Amino acid sequence: METLALSDILAARRAIAGVAAATPLVPSPFLERVAGCEVLMKLELAQPVGAFKLRGAANAMAALPAGTAGVTCCSTGNHGRAVAYAARRLGLRAVICMSRLVPQAKVDGIRALGAEVAIVGDSQDEAGAESRRLAARDGLVEIPPFDHPAVIAGQGTIGLELLEERPDLAAVLVPLSGGGLAAGVALAAKRIKPSIRVVGVTMQRGAAMHAALAAGRPVAVREVASLADSLGGGIGLDNRLTFALCRDHLDATVLVSEAEIYRAMQAHYYEDRLICEGAAAVGAAALMTGRAGRLDGPVATLLTGRNVDMAVFTDIVAGRDVALGDTTLEGRPYAA
Ligand SMILES: *Cc1c(COP(=O)(O)O)cnc(C)c1O
Repeated sequence: METLALSDILAARRAIAGVAAATPLVPSPFLERVAGCEVLMKLELAQPVGAFKLRGAANAMAALPAGTAGVTCCSTGNHGRAVAYAARRLGLRAVICMSRLVPQAKVDGIRALGAEVAIVGDSQDEAGAESRRLAARDGLVEIPPFDHPAVIAGQGTIGLELLEERPDLAAVLVPLSGGGLAAGVALAAKRIKPSIRVVGVTMQRGAAMHAALAAGRPVAVREVASLADSLGGGIGLDNRLTFALCRDHLDATVLVSEAEIYRAMQAHYYEDRLICEGAAAVGAAALMTGRAGRLDGPVATLLTGRNVDMAVFTDIVAGRDVALGDTTLEGRPYAA
């Protein structure tokens, strides 16, 4: 069953113009040396809320019926920030539900946009249940973080921008969590250029979509602390769209360790002079470890967000240890 078409993604681009930005695509000479081919960084961290999630949220919210009382969502942080931002533009009430695993910097950013915040439980699933409860109680419209056609179409606008600017792209590395981003980008990119490789990259700790693809169906994974906190959370045991789309359109999924994400964040900082969050650095980690596979042509890596806790970030660039839940990730000063 075809759930989404290129025309939906083209329509999304018109709907979000003026809210989400068309972002720069810039070369990384460092990653080019590492990978042995041209590597381009898509700077989604330059979006108004510091992450690509504004594309999907703005597209879903552009279609809200008149008289909507408000919106609610669950989030690992960036989707909530995007929903809060779009709601403020529309003059709507927004209630963002998050688990205790979400970093304080992300919670603070959402409050600063005027949204109400509910912190519940230790998992995205619990935050999702709270969002559904509030939607029913207060008549709010739920804006899901990934498993929704308008959200997927909004994220897919990245694929349009990539191939319009560089029709010669051979591969795209996409940070992978619930799969809204990967599904949208893969759909857009492969409709335009069927030969392009789209590779999902995620962290070893709690890789829900990777585990689901391996099992052939959505499975529950234990949620644990990760430097790539934006990639945490399950895909939903009742997943409707993103599981099948990722199964059908991703060429591979690659896992990277916490130490590899740490080093990739250092590299983006010292080599590319960019501040990015852990989730945004997984593409670089895949390239630096050689795990991205054989690359024969220009590659784009999506730098999906910059909403990192700055105390953690300064520890990483200084090479200090960082706490990950009840474990410690050993620091190491950056050396090229
Ligand atoms: C949400 C998010 C992702 C993953 O997107 P999915 O659609 O859930 O796969 C990647 N990077 C950042 C920074 C995010 O906020």
